[in-house]
Amino acid sequence: MKQEIKDILRERRESAELVARKNLAYALSFPEFKKLYEEEREVMIELARALALDSSGAKALKKKHSSLLEVEEAYLKTKELTLGDLKPKYFCSKCDDTGIFNGRECDCARKLKNDYLLKQSGFSRAPRAFEESNFSIFDDPKYFTSLYEKMKDWTQKRSSKIKNIVLCGNTGTGKTFLLECMLTELIKNGRLTLYTTAFNLGQIFLKYHVAPEDKKQSVLENVLSCEVLIIDDLGSEPMLRNVTEEYLYLTLNERLTSGLSTIISTNLTPEELKDRYGERVFSRLINKNQNLLLKFENRDLRLKP
Ligand SMILES: [Zn+2]
Repeated sequence: MKQEIKDILRERRESAELVARKNLAYALSFPEFKKLYEEEREVMIELARALALDSSGAKALKKKHSSLLEVEEAYLKTKELTLGDLKPKYFCSKCDDTGIFNGRECDCARKLKNDYLLKQSGFSRAPRAFEESNFSIFDDPKYFTSLYEKMKDWTQKRSSKIKNIVLCGNTGTGKTFLLECMLTELIKNGRLTLYTTAFNLGQIFLKYHVAPEDKKQSVLENVLSCEVLIIDDLGSEPMLRNVTEEYLYLTLNERLTSGLSTIISTNLTPEELKDRYGERVFSRLINKNQNLLLKFENRDLRLKP
């Protein structure tokens, strides 16, 4: 788990516990409540012992304990508190803000990771969603409706045979819009997704290139290990010698080997992609077995009134 996420979980846990401790200290500052509380604790311990020994007195103790709780609750009400206020109110009741539920990563920790990745992708607003799609703006609404449906289906399947998706087409044909919809849907489905422009990815590659050996891994960690990597506008970034092609290959190859998906949009044609990035990268981007190539052919949507 990333340190940033651990810190958030720890803060949530500590602040819930602090509030509970403060409430309890306040309640115990009233001698009447303190007496009640100590008695209730004692009965609770007796009850636990009786239950463990399967003793016949357990039933009576249980009754006594719950009536003490009732008295406590009534007293606390006069101080505008409840019994629940004396216990930590965790942000996530499933994992008590530990991030682990049933030995696995809790949904709340996953959500934090995705929020973190979304912040990394530089969105200053929520990315678009499939519900916002308007197909009437397309020259061929039917084709695009089915294309969007197909992509929505893909985002909902965890184990699709198709690993990589390449969206080819001119600027202004709605590729970025579709990528954002897919991002939103993937996050909604709890998939760890990183969205980046090719330009930003190039900056990450450059940082990786110049980083000292022991820091390199952390620079590329998110790019290599997120479940779905979305690269917008591949081909628009400057080509850096010994950087762009090498690390794009490294990224695509590692992700394919690990069975992770990459979605790419580009204004380039498949032939232009091959010319620009070379055969090795191209073969990781487009091969018939695992990859889907979609062509966006529509006149510039942004020019349409
Ligand atoms: Zn949780």
